[in-house]
Amino acid sequence: MTAVTRPIGLFDMAAQQALIRADIDRRIASVLDSGRFINGPEVAELEAALAAFSGAAHCVGVSSGTDALQIAMMAEGIGRGDAVFLPAFTYTATAEVPLVLGATPIFVDVEEGTFNIDLADLRRRIALVEAEGKLRPRAVVGVDLFGRPADWPAIQAICAEKGMFTLDDAAQAFGASLHGKRLGQWADAAALSFYPTKTLGCYGDGGALLTNDADRAALYRQLRTHGEGGSRYEVLRTGMNGRLDTIQATILLAKMPLFEGELAARRVIAARYAEQLGDAVRVPGEMEGAEQAWGIYSILLRDEAERDRVKASLQAQGIPSGIYYPKPLHHQPAYAAGHLASIGQMPPLPVAESLCGRILALPMHPYLDTAQVDRVAAAVRGAL
Ligand SMILES: *Cc1c(COP(=O)(O)O)cnc(C)c1O
Repeated sequence: MTAVTRPIGLFDMAAQQALIRADIDRRIASVLDSGRFINGPEVAELEAALAAFSGAAHCVGVSSGTDALQIAMMAEGIGRGDAVFLPAFTYTATAEVPLVLGATPIFVDVEEGTFNIDLADLRRRIALVEAEGKLRPRAVVGVDLFGRPADWPAIQAICAEKGMFTLDDAAQAFGASLHGKRLGQWADAAALSFYPTKTLGCYGDGGALLTNDADRAALYRQLRTHGEGGSRYEVLRTGMNGRLDTIQATILLAKMPLFEGELAARRVIAARYAEQLGDAVRVPGEMEGAEQAWGIYSILLRDEAERDRVKASLQAQGIPSGIYYPKPLHHQPAYAAGHLASIGQMPPLPVAESLCGRILALPMHPYLDTAQVDRVAAAVRGAL
C-alpha cells in the first residue's frame, strides 16, 4: 500500500527522453553549430532510415502528417469535382485536406471489429457517386486507426479496378505490418505523422511520405519546396512550404534505435490488457496476418453511460483515458453541411456514430510496466 508508483500517463514522452537525452542534446548542439536548420544532411539521413525501416523505396520528409496528406493529394492533381473516400471515424486532418484542395470528402462507415473502413460500404458509396455522375471518384484514403492496418489488399483491388489513387493515412500506425510487409509498401503512398504522441514522434511537428514510385517521390520533393524544380527559384508548379526541419529530423534519428523495442513493448502491453480485460469489455483483437503498431489502445463499452462512468472512475483514481473520437466527422460543424450536400442519396453511418459513444482509450506507451497495466485493468473492471 505504501509503494510509491510512477504516475500513469495516457502517453509518456519523458521516460523515453530520459534514455536518449544526452544524445538529443548532442544532436541539437550539432545542428546549432552547423547552422543548417533547413535541409540539413540529417533530413536525408532520416529519409534513408525510414525508407529502410518500412521497406518503401522512397521517403520524403515533410512538415506534418496533415501536410503529407496534402502534398500526396496535390501531386495527383486532386481538386474540384473529385470525390475522395475516407472513413467517417478518424482524425479531422484526413477530411480537411481534400476540402482545402476543393475536392469533396465522401465519408464511409467503418467496421465495429477493426475500427477501419468498411469495404462493402466503400463499394456502395463509390457506386452511388458513379451513378449520380456529378463527382469523379478519384481516391481512397485508408486510415490505419489506432495502429491497426486497414485491409490494404482489398482497398488496392477496389481502386485498381476503378483507376483510383490509394493513400494510406498511417499517422497512427508507423511500424505496423501486414502479411510481412510494413505500411509504406501497400498503398500508392503512405503519410506518416511525427506529432509527439505518435508511435514515432519528434519534439514538434513533422511528417513523411513513403512510396515505391520514383516519379511521385520526385513530385513530393518539389511540392514541399514551393513547387521549385530544375534550378532554385524556378517554380514548376504550385506547391507549399512543407519541409521537415533539421532539428526534428535529428531528434527522430536519435529515437530510431529504440523504435523496434518500443513496438515490441506495445505488443506486450496490448496482450496484457487483452488478458486482463478480454472477458469483461470489448478489447481490440489480434488481426490475422497483421502486426499492429498499437499507437492507441481503445476498448469498447456497452453504451455511453458506461463509457462515461468508466472514464470518470479512472480519473478519480488518477488514471488518464481518452476519447478518440467523440464525434464522427460527418457530425462535425465544419463538415456536416458539405456531407449532406455531397451526394444525393446519403446512406447513414451507423457504426461510426455508435463507436463515438462507446470508445475509450486506455494508457498506452512503451514505458508502462506490468503493474501499471494491471492497475489500469483492475480500475476498468471495478468501474463496470
Ligand atoms: C495525427 C493524425 C494526422 C495528422 O498528423 P499531424 O502531424 O498532426 O498533422 C492525420 N491523420 C490521423 C489519422 C492522425 O492521427
